[in-house]
Amino acid sequence: MKRYYTLLPLLLLFPLLFVQCQPPETQPDRMTIEQLDSDIQQMVFDVSADTLEKNVYRLADFGTRHTLSETESDTFGIGASWRWIRDEFERYSEESGGRLQVELDRFIQEPMGRIPEPVEIVNVVATLPGADPDDDRIFVVSGHYDSRASNVMDGESLAPGANDDASGTVAVMEMARVMSAYEFPATIVFMAVSGEEQGLLGARHWAERAAEEGKNIAGMITNDIIGNHAADDGALTDPNKVRLFAEGVPAVSELEPEIRRYLQTGGENDMPTRQFARTVKEVAESYLPDMDVWLIYRRDRYLRGGDHIPFLEQGYPALRFSEPHEEFRHQHQDIREEDGVQYGDLPEFVDYDYLGRVTRVNLAALANLASSPRSPENVGMNISRLENDTRLRWDPSPSAHVAGYEVLWRETASPVWQHREFVEGTEFTAELVSKDNWIFGVRAVSEGGHVGIPVYPMPFRE
Ligand SMILES: [Zn+2]
Repeated sequence: MKRYYTLLPLLLLFPLLFVQCQPPETQPDRMTIEQLDSDIQQMVFDVSADTLEKNVYRLADFGTRHTLSETESDTFGIGASWRWIRDEFERYSEESGGRLQVELDRFIQEPMGRIPEPVEIVNVVATLPGADPDDDRIFVVSGHYDSRASNVMDGESLAPGANDDASGTVAVMEMARVMSAYEFPATIVFMAVSGEEQGLLGARHWAERAAEEGKNIAGMITNDIIGNHAADDGALTDPNKVRLFAEGVPAVSELEPEIRRYLQTGGENDMPTRQFARTVKEVAESYLPDMDVWLIYRRDRYLRGGDHIPFLEQGYPALRFSEPHEEFRHQHQDIREEDGVQYGDLPEFVDYDYLGRVTRVNLAALANLASSPRSPENVGMNISRLENDTRLRWDPSPSAHVAGYEVLWRETASPVWQHREFVEGTEFTAELVSKDNWIFGVRAVSEGGHVGIPVYPMPFRE
């Protein structure tokens, strides 16, 4: 990875970020990556809670960003909102020498469900192209900038949407600002999408087209409601925790043979989305030791959905970050006071330091993954004979900057990896660690210590 701007003096201040923070006590067996990257530490440091705050207030100032709201005004409604987001991305692009490519993905949504008449949906998409021409991986990070009031069809009332989802939108913008000063082997797409509240429309449009074009989306993360860690007047509060929703086996009526192959050997927890989630957790907690990425092994919350779902539907690994608890008085509510309680998704209810921490969690994971080598291929578990050893072999990662591989294993009922062994070659025997009792994975590691997404070994016979 190459740095474009020298900010080394700031790096010296980096440890100050963590002095008051204790690692959470709930994670006795957390595994962290072996080697941290000083560029990623610098990027983590560069995330500014003040910028996040300023941008949430700016988005809230457009009054409403409802998909059916005003498009002509320069100060009010969804049109002014996306034009401002686009201008910000373009400013970051200029500051990074034009490498960040800003595009509008716009289309007319015909009437359906929550769309009463044809309406234009505009996604603002900023792409940081990968530096390795042989690496076709794309990592996507999104937030939705559209908002809503109590009535989902109401395009007129004020709907500041500060937490839902200006928080996710400004996190994505801040990552684009900071990360576009650097270069990564893989491509990163920063997306501010619309039409989420009307049925995930913007994200679905982009994901469907990506699938049609055969794009290799190696991982997608949506950030939706990431700005507040307390609920029910502080009865629940976890300032150092963020939920990461990760689907397991998709709830489809017909299982594809590819999925059946995982299930035949107890690999239902080791399909790409869960592998992706564990990697995000491990990397983020390595760079942010004060943070606890709380894996939630389900697609999303009850009665709710998010922009990762259209990506999952296209077969891409996709995750959702969301704050640890829900404050329902400040979501999807008209601004009003009732019995002394303030309702509405107002910027004053966002905790900007917390939002900064969640943005850093995202950034660390994305920067590592976009710097990691591509995964090894044809990872196989040799089941030719009955034995108490586990024998694995794989084809090398096609990336030039691969330093070797980590073979990972854990108990079958453990949610996270517990053991690892670094291997330079393309085979490994875990002696007296039986494949019957443990789950294995193999990932590539770069010369800079960046870890890739592990691959579940499929059985083969010699
Ligand atoms: Zn939302």
